Amino acid sequence: MPAGRDLAQLPKAHVHLHLDGAMRRGTLAELAEAAGIEAPLPRGYGSFAAFMETITAAARCLRTAADTERLVSEVVEDAGRAGAVWVEPSMWPGLFDGRLGSAAEAVDVVLAAGHDAARRHGVGFGLIVAANRDRGPAEALAMARLASSRAVDGVVGFGLDGDETAAPGSWFAEAFAVARDAGLRVVPHAGELAGPESVREALDVLGVDRIMHGVRAADDPELVERLAERGIPLDVCPTSNVMLSVVPSMDRHPLPALLAAGVRCSINADDPLLFETDLSAEYEIARTELGLTDVQLAAVAGTSLRHSGAPRDLVDRALSGIDAWLRGPMA
Ligand SMILES: [Zn+2]
Repeated sequence: MPAGRDLAQLPKAHVHLHLDGAMRRGTLAELAEAAGIEAPLPRGYGSFAAFMETITAAARCLRTAADTERLVSEVVEDAGRAGAVWVEPSMWPGLFDGRLGSAAEAVDVVLAAGHDAARRHGVGFGLIVAANRDRGPAEALAMARLASSRAVDGVVGFGLDGDETAAPGSWFAEAFAVARDAGLRVVPHAGELAGPESVREALDVLGVDRIMHGVRAADDPELVERLAERGIPLDVCPTSNVMLSVVPSMDRHPLPALLAAGVRCSINADDPLLFETDLSAEYEIARTELGLTDVQLAAVAGTSLRHSGAPRDLVDRALSGIDAWLRGPMA
């Protein structure tokens, strides 16, 4: 195993993480038992649809505000354990299916729980509200308006989840314009289930600040160059990409090539519950299986912070911490 500094001590932000997919396994088992339903068994996924079925079943175990507050608190605590000083999970309010009241009420429960957990665990918290491609542009517009109305309360970004092959980004241009006008970071999923054309559309039509995944841009050298030139980061999730067959195997993951081409990338866990991973494991994999050096890992951590919704003073402190980490001893 390559030697290196302690990755848990490297200040970083976790910026591509779905709230429901970040539930601890033990918490899912307890909540499922309390709900009297069988806990969905996370395992290998033959398709995106099978993956969505499992995540929807897990979300169904969240029945009350207290369940959700527990989830959010544990997500913030887990981020801190991995050395994150900022966590920015994403939620599509529809996953709660009215169990916490309206979509706005669900967002407010999560925001209050996030701020409370941030104080207790010493980890900054922001929220991404996401629309779902499968629900079409009208619902996306409502989600964008909701996200924008909570910008002062801690919503920092607007995302786009769901099946990328089912609905092109262009359908959601109006929703993204609303979110951009409200000063939110625009962070859709693209270049995961669909190829470079989807990333190009995100750049041209949605006006993105970051792209969730985006790794399939690696198939198109001109697009890679454009991402590098414009400094648009990709929020990369290596294990997720292997488990959903976005890449054929970890040793063929394009993260090292993207970094070598000058594309800014962050490293994230996506859905730790479903992919049996966490933020620490993803950084370790980047070191041990993808061969990233400590200098590259420090740059990745810097990208995760600079392009997050974290306040400037938190980012500056963390960047100083990254410099100190690099000056520190190898393990
Ligand atoms: Zn994702």
